[in-house]
Amino acid sequence: MPRLFTAIEVPKEIGTMLSMLRGGIHGARWIDPENYHLTLRFIGDIDDRTANEVAGILDFVERPSFKVTLTGLGQFGGKKPRAIIASVQPTPALIELQAEHERMMQRIGLPAEGRRFTPHVTLARLRDASVIEVADYLSTRGGFRSVSFPVSRFVLYSSRASQGGGPYIVEADYPLRGRAGLEQRYANAM
Ligand code: ATP
Ligand code: MG
Repeated sequence: MPRLFTAIEVPKEIGTMLSMLRGGIHGARWIDPENYHLTLRFIGDIDDRTANEVAGILDFVERPSFKVTLTGLGQFGGKKPRAIIASVQPTPALIELQAEHERMMQRIGLPAEGRRFTPHVTLARLRDASVIEVADYLSTRGGFRSVSFPVSRFVLYSSRASQGGGPYIVEADYPLRGRAGLEQRYANAM
């Protein structure tokens, strides 16, 4: 049974930049740069038939490309920190793409995702990490400057249930309309 999720890939040069932020927290498991991603819709473990339906319905997404902006570092978990993340600006284009994935998954009969979409890129998983150490880490990495990158496709990733933090495999990729695509549409309409 594949475990699937839709996501936006993090370009290599951005991954390299983020990987410089690794280190400095006991009990942290730092994600390898090639596994950085921005989850859009976690689908979970499903049978092959449903997996094919997921892959098929995503072909109907027709949306323009956009920019993703990483705005800073943060953590999930509060008093029990469980992840270090780069936060992502929740722009309308990103939210709408995510919402469309959500609608499509419900249309093929998957249960609704109850949790609110908090766009992020996970940099580390934490286990029994010290709240103080995490706070220190976040304040000393305060020099993180906001960085943007263009997004011209999203992907359907598979992951292994037990491994954690990857590796993730691109099972299918889906283009977003770029400028060139837009011009082509206009040309066709004339
Ligand atoms: P593991 O769970 O074995 O540690 P992982 O978390 O790296 O591995 P997955 O659980 O397959 O891999 O998760 C893939 C992506 O989906 C990750 O970005 C993860 O944060 C996110 N994710 C996992 N479970 C959920 C969930 N229930 N709701 C929303 N996002 C999820
Ligand atoms: Mg997980």
